[in-house]
Amino acid sequence: PQTAPGYADAPGYFDTGELIAVLTTQPLDRTLDYRAPEGGCHLGAFVEVPLGPRKVLGVVWGRGRGDFDLSKVRAVLRVLDVAPMRAEMQEFLTRAADYTLTPMPAMLRLAARAPGLSDPPSMRKVYRLGDATPDRMTDARTRVLEVLRDYGGLAFTLKELSDQAGVTSSVVKGLVKLGAVAEEDTPRDLPFPRLDPGLPAAQLTEDQSRAAAHLAQGLRAGRYGTTLLRGVTGSGKTEVYLEAVAECLRQNRQALVLLPEIALTEEFLRRIGARFGAQPAEWHSGVTMTERRRIWKMVGQGGCQVVVGARSALFLPFRDLGLIVVDEEHDSSYKQEDGVLYNARDMAVLRASICDAQVVLASATPSLESWANAEAGKYARLDLTARFGPAVMPELRAIDMRAETLPSNRWISPSLQSAVLRRIEAGEQSLLFLNRRGYAPVTICRACGHQIACPDCDARMVEHRFLKRLMCHQCGETAPIPEACPSCEVEGKLAVVGPGVERLTEEAQALFPNARVATLSSDLFGSARALKEQIAAIGQGGADIVIGTQLVAKGHNFPNLTLVGVIDADLGLQGSDLRAAERTFQLMRQVAGRAGRAEKPGTALLQTFQPEHPVIRAILSGDEEGFWRAEAREREAAGVPPYGRMAGIVLSSPDPQEAFDAGLALARGDAPIRAIGAQVYGPAPAPIARVRGRHRVRLLVKAPKGAALQGAVARWVAQIRPGPNLRMSVDIDPQSF
Ligand code: ADP
Ligand code: ZN
Repeated sequence: PQTAPGYADAPGYFDTGELIAVLTTQPLDRTLDYRAPEGGCHLGAFVEVPLGPRKVLGVVWGRGRGDFDLSKVRAVLRVLDVAPMRAEMQEFLTRAADYTLTPMPAMLRLAARAPGLSDPPSMRKVYRLGDATPDRMTDARTRVLEVLRDYGGLAFTLKELSDQAGVTSSVVKGLVKLGAVAEEDTPRDLPFPRLDPGLPAAQLTEDQSRAAAHLAQGLRAGRYGTTLLRGVTGSGKTEVYLEAVAECLRQNRQALVLLPEIALTEEFLRRIGARFGAQPAEWHSGVTMTERRRIWKMVGQGGCQVVVGARSALFLPFRDLGLIVVDEEHDSSYKQEDGVLYNARDMAVLRASICDAQVVLASATPSLESWANAEAGKYARLDLTARFGPAVMPELRAIDMRAETLPSNRWISPSLQSAVLRRIEAGEQSLLFLNRRGYAPVTICRACGHQIACPDCDARMVEHRFLKRLMCHQCGETAPIPEACPSCEVEGKLAVVGPGVERLTEEAQALFPNARVATLSSDLFGSARALKEQIAAIGQGGADIVIGTQLVAKGHNFPNLTLVGVIDADLGLQGSDLRAAERTFQLMRQVAGRAGRAEKPGTALLQTFQPEHPVIRAILSGDEEGFWRAEAREREAAGVPPYGRMAGIVLSSPDPQEAFDAGLALARGDAPIRAIGAQVYGPAPAPIARVRGRHRVRLLVKAPKGAALQGAVARWVAQIRPGPNLRMSVDIDPQSF
């Protein structure tokens, strides 16, 4: 048997030749039987097995079923040199699959992303920044050195480095000869430096200490529990959950911190580094494959105590996970919207309940789901009421746009303009928030009224003037900006309508010619690095006016920013989505919270045409409890989450008729749904009725709270056989309804 670290505590063991069941990552609806290899294997071992002419990855899932010709059963080819999957991970995957109605192989793929099929040799060559500077620099060389500098001290393999820099490997080799890049042999899979929970921490306020004590108590008891940690931005939530991480480390257990946005990790890693004396592991799509393999392995062996990362980190094989923090738990990016449709917040709770861990859901504006769970006593709730130190919550006021006179194609009202001007004169920063990427949302022909739309999607093409292209925000397709209208072919009549951040930037520059204006929008930056640099520059005072999309709402700390102006506070309230009010409330409170983080008090001004709208009034008054109660009443009356259960089924096909017919067939065969007292709505065009040339039809199921929704939906959708054109996706707890 295997003796690598981590194997000793694996429970089951199968002798040579014993019949075992292997779950593979291939899209099959059952496990396959094999014989245990020479030397046997453990339950949960990652193995390579023959499948037809191929070799595929699988996990030893249990005893074989032996329900077919035993003489044909083949042997496992190889046991991989990684820790076997623990029983609790098997349980997590099984229950997550049942909950999300995901086939097991797709679930396994989430948990087996990193190990790969090849066992690489134990030493490898890595590349770091060298001491020498080459006499002659080329673009390619500069890029290589930039990559190495950006990742400060991190070692790359040859392939990773040349890929990242977009150069051939000979460029790197050339730099090695010149001494500008150092080549080293290192053992693979170095453990991470130890984090020290004993280093001095901040002196917590009374509020904060109480919260930290509650979390520490749960951790010491070593049982499952979820706590909603609520507090305005800057109230010290992070400080509090870092104490929980410290307690977790003292218990010798591992901690996972989930963040909604990669751009936030850097600042956070530094903060953890400062608190515990070493940096934790960082896990997200931007991390190299080599590093991910190392994290995957070290997490399994216990050589990695804390992981900070994206939702997929939930599927890492932690040896003993004691704490999961979900920061900004209300953030909609925790919901994975393609492939396996899961909400990382809910999966964190599931995972923790299986491994006796504590969950901390931190937010200034919790989701209604979490608020209701706290009300119902399922989650504990801790409130931090004040901002830490001298910072106070900004004053929020409405600018009634009906009373402002504005020339056409201008969006900054005179009231907002003078407020910005005062900040500029005081040497302080202002943020103008508009949740619209690009230059203008609509391009219309003044001759015939045609609006330029994406050929493949039910969406307009949005002008991006900085890129000099039109872009579809659904599929990412771009096209040149035409001279003539594509419909009537008249030239010179195309005009843009409405504001995007780029157009707002132009307006701000014209109104404040001497101000430095910086625009933060995800598509203006070629790389995460460029964006991080811009954010850092703004934090150090490199701009007077910041213009931003949703990106700026999340957690960045600009100490000199004292004014937030929301260009269109009504934007999110349009449409029929029942979550619109909640989302707008969260986003507006979050954005307003960007103002006045340090000693200087802040102000947030919301431009609105409907200042008496209940959501706008709640945002201004800050009466969160009142807002939640009102929202809860409405959702309860409508029987929708969190007071009822929902599932969304999307059928799509290049042929609209096929998608619609399949939808009709489902609607007619709704007996399994009616059997649990639930109802089917639709088929109706999905919120975006066409994406990438596929027509999309949606059905919604609304079930009473306690109904066995998944079983009924599984039986129901089994009537539809997806084909070469027809695709079906099932979404339990859809984000919009
Ligand atoms: P939140 O996560 O709620 O936004 P943070 O934990 O980031 O709040 O705290 C906001 C700021 O106040 C941070 O700079 C943090 O270091 C500081 N801070 C919070 N609590 C304390 C404390 N007890 N002692 C010293 N500094 C604190
Ligand atoms: Zn498109």
